[in-house]
Amino acid sequence: MSDIDRLAEELTTYLTKEQIDHVCRAYYYAEQAHEGQKRRSGEYYITHPLAVAGILSKMHMDYQGLMAAMLHDVIEDSEIKKDAIAKQFGNTVADIVDGVSKLTNIRFENRAAAQGENFQKMSLALAKDIRVILVKLADRMHNMRTLSAMPPYKRRAKAKETLEIYSPIAHRLGMHDMCVEFEELGFAAIYPMRAKLLSQAVSKARGERKKFVSDVIENIQDALKQYNISAKITGREKHLYSIYQKMKLKKKSFSEIMDVFGVRIVTQSIDECYRVLGLVHNLHKPIPGRFKDYIAIPKANGYQSLHTTLFGAHAIPVEIQIRTNEMDDMANNGIAAHWLYKEQEVALAESQDHSKIWIQNLLELQKTTTDPAEFIENVKTDLFPNAVYVFTPKGDILELPTGATAIDFAYAVHTQIGNTCVACRINKRLSSLSEPLESGQTIEIITASNAHPRSVWLNFAISSKARSNIKHFLKQQNRQESINLGKRLLNTMLPHISPLYEDLEALPKEVISALLKKLDITNKNDLLEEIGSGKRLNYITGYLTKLLSQHQELAAKPSVNTDEQLLLITGQEGSVISFAQCCHPIPGDAISGYLQIGKGITIHRQKCSELSLNKSRHELLADVGWDDHTKGVFEVNLSLQILKNKTVFSTIVFSITAADGEIIQFLIEDSDLHTYKASVIIGVKDRIHLAKIIRKLRHIPDILSVHRK
Ligand code: MN
Repeated sequence: MSDIDRLAEELTTYLTKEQIDHVCRAYYYAEQAHEGQKRRSGEYYITHPLAVAGILSKMHMDYQGLMAAMLHDVIEDSEIKKDAIAKQFGNTVADIVDGVSKLTNIRFENRAAAQGENFQKMSLALAKDIRVILVKLADRMHNMRTLSAMPPYKRRAKAKETLEIYSPIAHRLGMHDMCVEFEELGFAAIYPMRAKLLSQAVSKARGERKKFVSDVIENIQDALKQYNISAKITGREKHLYSIYQKMKLKKKSFSEIMDVFGVRIVTQSIDECYRVLGLVHNLHKPIPGRFKDYIAIPKANGYQSLHTTLFGAHAIPVEIQIRTNEMDDMANNGIAAHWLYKEQEVALAESQDHSKIWIQNLLELQKTTTDPAEFIENVKTDLFPNAVYVFTPKGDILELPTGATAIDFAYAVHTQIGNTCVACRINKRLSSLSEPLESGQTIEIITASNAHPRSVWLNFAISSKARSNIKHFLKQQNRQESINLGKRLLNTMLPHISPLYEDLEALPKEVISALLKKLDITNKNDLLEEIGSGKRLNYITGYLTKLLSQHQELAAKPSVNTDEQLLLITGQEGSVISFAQCCHPIPGDAISGYLQIGKGITIHRQKCSELSLNKSRHELLADVGWDDHTKGVFEVNLSLQILKNKTVFSTIVFSITAADGEIIQFLIEDSDLHTYKASVIIGVKDRIHLAKIIRKLRHIPDILSVHRK
């Protein structure tokens, strides 16, 4: 019997005769197209697509997917075009074949740029038809299985790509079996010696522990029989690559890893899962904190199971997974389980939704990230499964990376929500945006239409989506701020350069165009941005002075009232103006501003010692003052001497907040038997506000002294 006849016979278990005929027709078409071509192993080329279709048939892939598998290398390797395939086999099959060819056409070459590009195309294809990815994965699987025909350097490159790209995708789609096989084959190809040694060690260790495992299984079996539950119980073997990863990344010893045993119990119904859980907990003591209910809260890739760890005999831990048949198929085949369980439309809809969301995230990420290296880095972090699961107020479940905060959550819900978020409630309690989230919490985001992302968010936003959106916003905002500051700076300086010109708009056109030409800048905003960000400032003012004196033949003599030339600080300038951390100026203080190249203006108090010390380092002293309508919260550092007393801290906190002050940081710097020395950073409006708070603090009997640093 020929190979195709054997496959056709296998297909009768789940396809109609007509469907099988279509698959065979695609096979003969491909055989002709690849006529005369051979694989590196010497076999006829057609054996490859046939094997790919075989892999997919094990997942009960539908007939169109199988046809596409037969034809997947036809466009790539022969003169035949997509149109011809569409004519013969219909648009659906042609689209899948075309999608696979496009993926194949992009070479990785280990360059980040190529990988980012590939991801994008791959995700586009996936968003349209998931079968493109499944055919591609099966194609890669057969190539990995037959890798030995390749020269060693190619073997390693393919294996590396498989571990970096394809096994994470299989994992993302919940296809555990495929993911494990990719990892085992990839590991053996990159590190043949390590894989061989590890494999020998594993079979030796397993031999020694055989009795223990079978005892555990037998115990459970007896208990289940007593309660009339029929379930499949199997020992779970750890695969080599995961042992290797654990040894390498978690720095665990081989025996530590091998000393943990896995048992899987597959039941008929969800109800039985929980009953089995109760039974095994009765049998052996569970280890606290290790129970996880992924049935109630599935993982993002659709995985469902109960996990628990027991103290077995001799205190050896036994990891137990409990799930139903359907969940088991879902866990092993992931999204491909759809074709195994056609009737379970709901489960499929959910798992497809999850992968769709992932793809949409990828596409959005691609829009905001221009650097391919950054993109691939982001995608890589996103692919790894360390995750927390939290609820939206409506009860939807979101997956976020471990350590994610409400900022990440807000961006995961919607970019606009992230961009305008101001506060959050975690389990209905008002909480800090920087607090790391924990699985099971319900998160509600409070937004304000005029709010915008802040640069401090980058300290605690960890998801790639949140980070790239925040950075994107800040970059835009920075430019606008630099332009505004540049305009104000120029207007402040102009009367010094020439008393004839009040502001930029009053300058003669030809002077401006000469200036732009000299600087090789095309428009006025770019010029203002350069000034505002401190680049070439001396050069620009110097050249402008020269131009104006040429233009007017006029020696510029400043005769202006300097008071009017102050650059007034409103507190709303954003990141272009910053307040020095050494002296914490607040409205009402006498201040000086220093312009530093690329950093904008830093405001110091005039009596700041830091300032006089480093004068030479600063580029330019700007005359600054406070605007009458200064707004915002300004940080100020207080030093307190306090008598030790249990309630003194709450009294201090209460007095400051009662006076509308905001406590930003509270540090005990020193203490002896009776007193503390504390440093408190508080947020105030201005000097008057500060004076009020200090007065309140001085009224507390246990406070010995208060003064501003
Ligand atoms: Mn192929």
